[in-house]
Amino acid sequence: LCGRSSSRNVLVAVPVPALDLLTYRVPDDSPIPPAGARVVVPLGSRAVTGIVVDADPGASDVADADIKPIRQLLDRHAFLPPDVVALTRWTAEYYAAGAGETITAVLPPKSRGDRADAHKTRRVVAITASGMEAAAAAGVVTPKQQEVLAMLAGAPDGIASPQLAARGGSPDTIARLARQGLVVVRRERVDRDPFDAASLPAPSPGGPGPARRLTTEQAGAFDRLHALAASKSFQVALLHGVTGSGKTELYIRLSRAVRDAGRGVLMLVPEIALTPAVASLFRETFADRVAIQHSGLSDGERHDQWQRIREGRVEVVVGTRSAVFAPLDRPGLIVVDEEHDASYKQEESPRYNGRDVAIVRGRQAGALVVLGSATPSMESYYNALAGKYHRVVLERRVLDRPLPSVTVVDMREEYADGGPDVVLSRALKAAIGVRLDRREQSLVLLNRRGFATAVFCRQCAGTVDCPNCSVSLVVHGEGAARRARCHYCNFSARVPAACPLCAAPYLEQTGFGTERVVAEIERAWPAARVARLDRDSVRRKGALAGLLARFRDGEIDVLVGTQMIAKGHDFPRVTLVGIVSADVGLGMADFRASERTFQLLTQVAGRAGRGEQPGDAIVQTIYPNHYSIQLACRQDYAGFYERELRFRKAMRYPPVVSLINSVVRSRTFAGAMDDAADIVQRLRRLAEAAAGVAILGPAPAPLGKLRGEYRAQFLVKGTNRRWMREALMAALAGRPDVQRRTVVDVDPLSVL
Ligand code: ADP
Ligand code: ZN
Repeated sequence: LCGRSSSRNVLVAVPVPALDLLTYRVPDDSPIPPAGARVVVPLGSRAVTGIVVDADPGASDVADADIKPIRQLLDRHAFLPPDVVALTRWTAEYYAAGAGETITAVLPPKSRGDRADAHKTRRVVAITASGMEAAAAAGVVTPKQQEVLAMLAGAPDGIASPQLAARGGSPDTIARLARQGLVVVRRERVDRDPFDAASLPAPSPGGPGPARRLTTEQAGAFDRLHALAASKSFQVALLHGVTGSGKTELYIRLSRAVRDAGRGVLMLVPEIALTPAVASLFRETFADRVAIQHSGLSDGERHDQWQRIREGRVEVVVGTRSAVFAPLDRPGLIVVDEEHDASYKQEESPRYNGRDVAIVRGRQAGALVVLGSATPSMESYYNALAGKYHRVVLERRVLDRPLPSVTVVDMREEYADGGPDVVLSRALKAAIGVRLDRREQSLVLLNRRGFATAVFCRQCAGTVDCPNCSVSLVVHGEGAARRARCHYCNFSARVPAACPLCAAPYLEQTGFGTERVVAEIERAWPAARVARLDRDSVRRKGALAGLLARFRDGEIDVLVGTQMIAKGHDFPRVTLVGIVSADVGLGMADFRASERTFQLLTQVAGRAGRGEQPGDAIVQTIYPNHYSIQLACRQDYAGFYERELRFRKAMRYPPVVSLINSVVRSRTFAGAMDDAADIVQRLRRLAEAAAGVAILGPAPAPLGKLRGEYRAQFLVKGTNRRWMREALMAALAGRPDVQRRTVVDVDPLSVL
């Protein structure tokens, strides 16, 4: 009897962050639901919708009497495909996240309730046989009804009721016709289609498709990748191709080959803004068998796209990191474009890296995973050199377009000659002027938002800081519109007239951001059409796509922006890229600072000269000799990798070891430090037996206070990631109160 009751137990993931999987009993009169089915289960005094993750978990350590029965089975078949369920379990475990919150994060919207149909439908009116007769005869129906029947007679599949109404067929007329059996009204499911809303760029001249010939280099790369895909086994290839080498073209051709072999394609891009352009390129080949998945879609769109994928109605899914969990059946190819991009990492729990989950999914599905980049992450290049990944290289731009020539401007000389307020160097100004005269476009990068980055007191040297966070406030706007804002918690205040610390009226703005660069360019060239692209300027839905489309259409001469302008976009008319300060980020206490700087400079410089005209890049810096700047200017990836790896080896940082960052939050500084110290002590006791594990800290986190809470940090380094994670979880389990206030980040991208 005991055995029988436990075999009716299932493990369920519920949408509550801190909870692990829970055991429930299936009532005797119900079938056992399969993994992936939705069930309504009691949780405390509530009822929640969960997902069965294991239909046969074996013995449980919960006493049978304590196991509650499932209230309702919502699905007889898996709602979430079993392989996606398995992928979320892997993700939750690897990233030390809750199983429930992880699975909830991959469910489509509107899937939590009961079976209530979340599909959108519309009414379609069609004519019947007797309606045809009535339409042909005279005087059977009123003239108005006659008119409607005539319209419907020409549309055997029917006409949607809104369109019919627009052409004079009022709901009333239709109801009368339906009562007489002259028309029928049916409900038809419509998919909310994000493609309609997106402003799509015109297809690139020459188009992809079979018409265009691959370059010799592209053809060689294609043959190698195609052979890997044809092996139908798990493979990872790093496609290391300089900017403009035609990687996208290869993705599309590979996708076609994989589709022809009967399997689907997952195409991941780092930014929502890149999905419309990439999806429309795929649509040229795959027509409507392309779906989009990203968090910028409305709930309805996301739901419908998800269902189309789940029902096997698409061959290609284009999306951002969360699309790695798309319910696509047996993908044969998974592409991670711009694989180095930090956007693949989710900076909230579950803190997964979409690129790494993509590799796990590829292993699960027996698929080819292609990681594409002009500036591969240190991790991926390390793995490629170690032989874990195949390495496929594109060294040249298509049609032998040259890489941009890069000039470095030493800003210390500019300050010496022009004073400390110089924003644009003489060289950059001259170059922008030339582009304006020639009616060519310029991109100007500054990876810092706002007008001024700090307000500083000349008397006491204090700064105006955020009351909730340990950062200074950033000034946005000019004149009456001026506000001081915190970029972390969104605190906002008027810019004070006197120093809040010493009351002296000698406040000065220092540092500058994108708004100031726009102001400088507009002052120098009042007639130029200048626009700004950063998180502030594109808050409204659709604003980003609109701005990019205007730039592509030539309605903007100079586009100033943060790293958002560096990503993947193909703007053929840009012949100049200016980098206002290459040093933003280099001063940060983050072991990836040099890598980020190298990637950003190489990528943004690569936006120049992608069309017929060659391009120039101008890099302003106060560290003209820093290796990441020097090597980015020479587009010398291998040189950078070697130099950076030496640093990572010496300091024992990834990719030579694994890293877990933990941040403990508390209302007081001492509380945060003491709690972190306690966990570290427990961890050290466990680590005594383990070789090669190092624990750094506790120490105040570089961002020591955030949203009113103090933060203490410690890092665990070592080569056995599983051991590290399990030891850390064991140490935290001894202090559940601290565990709730601790963020654990496995493979962190940033340790700030
Ligand atoms: P990447 O992704 O490597 O930076 P893209 O795939 O965006 O490069 O290609 C750069 C440009 O070259 C695009 O405008 C693309 O349409 C074009 N292109 C790609 N392959 C070819 C080819 N074989 N012949 C002509 N143009 C090409
Ligand atoms: Zn703040």
